Amino acid sequence: MIIPKKDKLSADELKQVEKIASDSECTILEIQGQNRCVYAILGDETQEVMFKRIAGLSFIRKVDRIESSYKLMDRRSALADHLVKIGNVEVGKDVPFIIGGPCTIDPANPNLFIETAHALKEVGVQGLRGGVWKPRTNPYSYQGDNKSLDIILQAREETGLPIDIEVMDLEQLKLALEAKVDILQVGTRNALNYSLLKEIGRLSAGTESAVLLKRGRHVASPNEFIAAAEYIVAEGNPNVMLCPRGTTPALDGYRNQPDESISPLLKSKTWAPVVVDPSHSVGHAEYVMACSLASIAYGADGLCIESHIDPSKGIGDDPKQAVRPEKMKEIIEGCGAIWKQRYRP
Ligand code: PEP
Ligand code: MN
Repeated sequence: MIIPKKDKLSADELKQVEKIASDSECTILEIQGQNRCVYAILGDETQEVMFKRIAGLSFIRKVDRIESSYKLMDRRSALADHLVKIGNVEVGKDVPFIIGGPCTIDPANPNLFIETAHALKEVGVQGLRGGVWKPRTNPYSYQGDNKSLDIILQAREETGLPIDIEVMDLEQLKLALEAKVDILQVGTRNALNYSLLKEIGRLSAGTESAVLLKRGRHVASPNEFIAAAEYIVAEGNPNVMLCPRGTTPALDGYRNQPDESISPLLKSKTWAPVVVDPSHSVGHAEYVMACSLASIAYGADGLCIESHIDPSKGIGDDPKQAVRPEKMKEIIEGCGAIWKQRYRP
């Protein structure tokens, strides 16, 4: 990774760097962080001569050769001071970043979503989630509807809150980017779908859309999870948040094995914000508050929580695991109260 002396290389300086890289059959990718640009070398970057020539340029501060499968996500990288910004909020800076909303938007009852959105704004939620297209274990269950995209866009318009939706393929990704969706969610099933991660990184590079990467049930180590996020950053979008959401079930009674305790490991290895999803982790509305508080204590920067004004009328996971807006208020207050004691690397 190349770090210039100034915040960004001029067009002429970039040309000089690109010329040296191309002499060694490499290319340069510009990655725009919040405060500075860094430049990744793509290709066979083991070449000593190329490194020396680039490092010797007067406008280069250093060429960083972190040998890691996540050199951009690494806490030691030049992106370490990068803050992910969603709308006007810098994630994890002053208060927990809380996203709330139903698992699944019901296109037949748009008002349920719109009213939920207003109620959640009222209690202090900073982002709205809602499933437009759904990954369902049962192929005969409801799979989603393009109409729901219009519903969540209307909710953003009315509340001013940024929105989070899951995208599972290129077509959905393009529709979401066209609609300037604020947070592109990658679900647990696609957490290691490297081709999709690359497309997301490539097509969202330079846009305002951030990515919420969920930890796949099958993603074993923190390193594997962080390396998956690296795929997105290495294609040009550094606005990535890591989302533990429960792993392979082991405790009878919870939907998944709660994994909020991974947060300190993630926080000490990378600079990326951690936004835990307690809803899919424990899978029952009753336990969501406990898991939320634990997540913040373990160092999470935020939470993504399923919430609905009337969970019994919801579709998808809502009847089981969505909390009502009144409960969200308690969760937000409780998390705010322990925010200062949370784990920090
Ligand atoms: C969801 O957020 O509703 C969802 C399907 O999440 P996950 O990918 O974690 O199962
Ligand atoms: Mn869900």
